[in-house]
Amino acid sequence: MLKIENLSVHYGMIQAVKDVSFEVKEGEIVSLIGANGAGKTTILRTISGLNHPSKGTITFEGTQIQKKAPRKIVAQGISQVPEGRHVFSGLTVLENLEMGAYLRKDSEMQKDYEHIYEKFPILKERLNQDASTLSGGEQQMLAMGRALMSKPRLLLLDEPSMGLAPIFIQEIFNIIQEIQKQGTTVLLIEQNAKMALSIADRGYVLETGKVVLSGTGQELLESEEVKKAYLGG
Ligand code: ATP
Repeated sequence: MLKIENLSVHYGMIQAVKDVSFEVKEGEIVSLIGANGAGKTTILRTISGLNHPSKGTITFEGTQIQKKAPRKIVAQGISQVPEGRHVFSGLTVLENLEMGAYLRKDSEMQKDYEHIYEKFPILKERLNQDASTLSGGEQQMLAMGRALMSKPRLLLLDEPSMGLAPIFIQEIFNIIQEIQKQGTTVLLIEQNAKMALSIADRGYVLETGKVVLSGTGQELLESEEVKKAYLGG
């Protein structure tokens, strides 16, 4: 579904991503793990069209997208939940969800709002509340709901567990699995390697801009290198 080939991304003289290749097959959860500064966010932003590669290609469902504008990429079926959620403050929960659907013209939206409320019941209780007044976990749910309102076939999640209490982390990861079961493919980047690999079909380990290891989620969880570097021994 998504194929990244020999991707390099620079910020001026700094090379944040170095000749990275990986793929995501339809229906999978794929996790990219790595320490701070490994290049994870840069890769997601480049897939979404927010950064541009200096080299390499990004192919989504057979079409190269690395030169496309972000809105074209969303329209093609990829939606990103950014690190730090970035819900729109000053807008209500409902208005935030509506923003996620702004490219849609179909008549099925009402049904999709209902699906979002089933997945995230707390959002239904807070529809008229200013999004900035939600807790961190609630904001993460809203950001995921907003992304799902564009009906993506591929959902990109940037550190969904960041800053959340353990109980919320568990809930968010359960919801990610539910999203997969309902047919959306997921590319997840996380510093919480244990959680990210335990729900992943496959994963890749990034170090200073390079892929250094790959395997099934289970293989990576059992790898001595991963245990030592990312799972606290
Ligand atoms: P984190 O988990 O801390 O978000 P990450 O793996 O997502 O880390 P990136 O945010 O992609 O890593 O950063 C990769 C490298 O690129 C880092 O060295 C970072 O300092 C650098 N970088 C990121 N954004 C910029 C920018 N806008 N300008 C210059 N350098 C940047």
